[in-house]
Amino acid sequence: MATVPVTPDLGRLLTELQSRGVRLEGPVEARRGGAGPSDAGMIHVEGVPVTVPVTAAYVAGSPYTMRRELEGWGIYREGVRLASAAAPQRPRYYDLSTADGIPYWKIALLHLDSMASTVIQSCAYWDTDDQCHFCGIELSLEAGSTVRVKRPEHLAEVAVAARDLDGAVDVTLTTGSTYGPDRGALYLARCAAAIKEASGLPVEAQFEPPGDLAVLDRVHDAGVDSVGIHVESFDPVVLERIAPAKARTGIDGYFAAWERAVELFGRGQVSTYVIVGMGEDPEVTVQGCLRAVDLGVYPFVVPLRPVPGSLMEACSPPPPERMDAIYRRVVPHLRARGLSADSVRAGCARCQACSAMGVMERSTGGDDLQRIPLRPLH
Ligand code: SF4
Repeated sequence: MATVPVTPDLGRLLTELQSRGVRLEGPVEARRGGAGPSDAGMIHVEGVPVTVPVTAAYVAGSPYTMRRELEGWGIYREGVRLASAAAPQRPRYYDLSTADGIPYWKIALLHLDSMASTVIQSCAYWDTDDQCHFCGIELSLEAGSTVRVKRPEHLAEVAVAARDLDGAVDVTLTTGSTYGPDRGALYLARCAAAIKEASGLPVEAQFEPPGDLAVLDRVHDAGVDSVGIHVESFDPVVLERIAPAKARTGIDGYFAAWERAVELFGRGQVSTYVIVGMGEDPEVTVQGCLRAVDLGVYPFVVPLRPVPGSLMEACSPPPPERMDAIYRRVVPHLRARGLSADSVRAGCARCQACSAMGVMERSTGGDDLQRIPLRPLH
């Protein structure tokens, strides 16, 4: 995460951009499809890395534009310049290929300063009643922009290049769920071990709770630094509707997995995505986040980012006010319990670009967010 000074207004601006999207007046690097809630342009706003919707249909209605300037870019609303922006160059390692001809960019992408790969680009739930509605994991496979299974030695090779040529500081590995009881976690662990041995970069592994929690010990033994075990919603009614397979694990099933994971990886090295905007009860969401924080789990709260081609492509992200209200309840509790994005070793909760939580953590200087006055942006 960037170490530039941040203000409460910047947190509010990022929340707005992530809910409404940004109309681009020029090309920037973007991610389309992929596991989980994707579809993102990757930019810096006032030096802070942030992902924002740029391609979905609803972005056409956003009041925000990103405009080229003499040097760099600016974020504008109705002609008024709000912030500086920067668009990363195409990573240099994207021009390389493996000895057997696979372009590096089909093996792993650079998400700002994190190399990210979906090591198994298919999911046991895809095209079944269990498919998670927000997910686009097989869309990029269908589009030919990736390979179905990434090999550990290829990932290791790409990680070294991403580190050396483009300054990658960590690696985020995710997977579709497999039919096996480990849900793909053990293959992730093999990939992580190869990457760490070759590059030394810290690695986050993201997977569903395994049927046998002893799998977590083996993931830890492989050297994985942080894990993401993503409940997606604390509202059981929403989970049942949006992610039926995850609902069968149940909220308590997630807490059981997190408890074991925190014992192994440490407080703050276990995280969960919490997607807001799928019809969930805000209070249930907040209470779930607070309970997770008490256990040592970082709830990475993000707005729904409907992926074109996913089952939720016609949905809209939640209004920024709803995100802001949840951040303001969760972030002070994180701080009170000693958890911080800055101490996460690898992965989404370290990067923070898909949420405004990290910026809000750092914008308060230790004060309770509830006491921070907000000025309107316009
Ligand atoms: S478990 Fe859900 S979110 Fe994960 S890859 Fe499968 S369908 Fe996508």
